[in-house]
Amino acid sequence: MSTDVLELPETAEQYRSLEEKVRLLRPKDDLAPLERAYRYAADLHVNQKRKSGEPYISHPLAVAHILADMHMDLVSIQTGILHDVLEDTSARLEDVRERFGEDVARCVDGVTKLSKISLANRDDRQAESLRKMLLAMTGDIRVIIVKLADRLHNMRTLGSLLPERQEAIAQETLEIYAPIAHRLGMGKVRGELEDLAFRTLHPEAATELMREIESKRQDHEQWLAQVQATIEQKLAREDIPACVDGRVKRAYSVYQKLKRQRITLDQVYDVMAVRIITDSVKNCYAALGVIHNEWHPVPGRIKDFIAMPRPNLYQSLHTSVIGPDGIAFEVQIRTEEMHKIAEEGIAAHWKYKEGSKGPRGDDQRIAWLRQLVEWQREMKDSGEFLSTLKVDLYSEEVYTFTPRGRVIVLPRDATPIDFAYAIHSDIGHTCVGARINGAIRPLKSTLRNGDVVEILTQPGHQPSRDWLGVVKTSRARNRIKHVINAAERAKAVEIGQKSLEKEARRLGVSLGRISNQDLETVASEYGVSKTEDLYAALGFGKFSARQVLQKVAPDDIPPESLPVPELPRISPPGTPSPLGDGDLTIHVKGADDVLVYRAKCCNPIRGERIVGYITRGKGVAVHSQQCPNVQNLMYEAERKIDVEWARSANDPLPVKVIVYTDDRPGILHQLTSILSAEQSNIRTLEARADHTRSDESAVVDITMEVRDKKQLERVINAFRRIPGVRDIERILTN
Ligand code: MN
Repeated sequence: MSTDVLELPETAEQYRSLEEKVRLLRPKDDLAPLERAYRYAADLHVNQKRKSGEPYISHPLAVAHILADMHMDLVSIQTGILHDVLEDTSARLEDVRERFGEDVARCVDGVTKLSKISLANRDDRQAESLRKMLLAMTGDIRVIIVKLADRLHNMRTLGSLLPERQEAIAQETLEIYAPIAHRLGMGKVRGELEDLAFRTLHPEAATELMREIESKRQDHEQWLAQVQATIEQKLAREDIPACVDGRVKRAYSVYQKLKRQRITLDQVYDVMAVRIITDSVKNCYAALGVIHNEWHPVPGRIKDFIAMPRPNLYQSLHTSVIGPDGIAFEVQIRTEEMHKIAEEGIAAHWKYKEGSKGPRGDDQRIAWLRQLVEWQREMKDSGEFLSTLKVDLYSEEVYTFTPRGRVIVLPRDATPIDFAYAIHSDIGHTCVGARINGAIRPLKSTLRNGDVVEILTQPGHQPSRDWLGVVKTSRARNRIKHVINAAERAKAVEIGQKSLEKEARRLGVSLGRISNQDLETVASEYGVSKTEDLYAALGFGKFSARQVLQKVAPDDIPPESLPVPELPRISPPGTPSPLGDGDLTIHVKGADDVLVYRAKCCNPIRGERIVGYITRGKGVAVHSQQCPNVQNLMYEAERKIDVEWARSANDPLPVKVIVYTDDRPGILHQLTSILSAEQSNIRTLEARADHTRSDESAVVDITMEVRDKKQLERVINAFRRIPGVRDIERILTN
């Protein structure tokens, strides 16, 4: 590229005047980065034209002008110049970052991402979520402000596009961008966006309305001048300093009023409005008194947004009064500060300050936030704006879509399972997979803003207990629990009934003789109401079938045949676990109060993966998942039950290991000092020569107490590091 872009006749002038504008606002700033941004963008867009035939670069430059007029900082203005290079040219984000720094790169990237989402023609009820999503997607509020400036310029130059395209953009502007400008308190931008969109979407109504407003303009202006003079005079008499400004309202706001109230233009109050800007809150109220003293207020139209600011922080006193010739008009009274916020909103906070280098990113935002919180305290009906801001700053929510474009709002880190339950319980229960943005992804993956999620279902599929550890919404959690509890209870009822029948056969008791009535009586003795609950309790192992039979048919079961419960002794030794107590270090998920014991065959310790197995009348046996018996036991899959290590209990558990070593002095001492360093008690220790081997080797059997798997691993690793130790084996049985 040999031509210097600063020599290009059409756009060099546009750039120069931008530079002048910024220099005036901030005389001490170095504007070299601005020029570099211009050169870079102009080079990249050099062969591109807008639909109107102008060189493309004229659009980003116009956006930069709008941002400069808003008094935005250099980062925003550079972003304005660069905002289309990623989308429309070969430029890469890395390159932008290298040339213009992290802030500009992040903002340009943000604007580009926003542009990729099509927001037009969505369901009306979704608009609010979409607006929130836009705010959530932008870590930096300047992204939104640049986007608004971009949209404003596009709306101003909409004419060269195809009619359908114009309409779509205008609709999106009205539904999404104008309300965001409103939300951010940027009244001027909002007003212009609305009027431009109004003209595109309802050209006839707009033309007619404007003609009507226009035809009365002269009358209006004369009338307004008269009112204005009266107000100035009265305020001066009361020593209230004020700047009084009369205006005819914007076409779109008049149109909305006409539509809402089904009236004609003649009947609209407040086509004309007067704004009084004074110096203090006290004088705002004083001015209101002056106005009401002069003209009659329209009842019910006095609004105090000073005491109760709008959620977007707008503050003013509003009143409508019957003016000269019986014409009603609206009066807005506010301070200078309130006016600035009303017109510029959040953008007011990027205003250049003489001598400062502009906002120091976060500081500025924190200051804004603090101010917000201050105002918030005085506000009663507040939630909306602050929660929006929260979304913006902390991204506590993610905004996702169904393939048809419905917005599903979920908490941060939500999964496709949450998404599925948000749509419908049945979709949740039967979901087996998810397609995110077209690619199959695990159900446990984390959703991000803008993801399009399609849920794959399989009829008859049941939610898995694992999901409980994954889902983020209480809706999903509750539905899953409900299904799982119902399924497990059904299992327990079946097992309970079978075990009662089996035990009855074994003891020669005829269940046929026992009425349901009798069983219900026993049930109530155990504190449950129905026979089914009794079976469930049996199935969960809360008591044994034999105990139940003894109650319903005491004569058939001789008391001496009552067996001693075959429960293993739980550590620490000397405190035997009575039946009904069980091992407190483990509990059954979703069911309290179930008798649990550690299986003797594998003696699982804390931290190991474990599975529960419902025994017949002896509670739940807990095995290590590696236990060879598990494979055999699990052929009765319905007896499997999820168990977990209790968080609170922390009793040490006995574990037996065999250490194979060289037969040399000092080994035993090294082994035991490791255990004492770990504060692990030794229950038994036995060393002997290994006669199975010809070399000089020894075997040490140790039963020690460990708190959990981690500690066991630490001990074993330390053992392994002892010179002469050849191998270590953990013996599962005690
Ligand atoms: Mn653009």
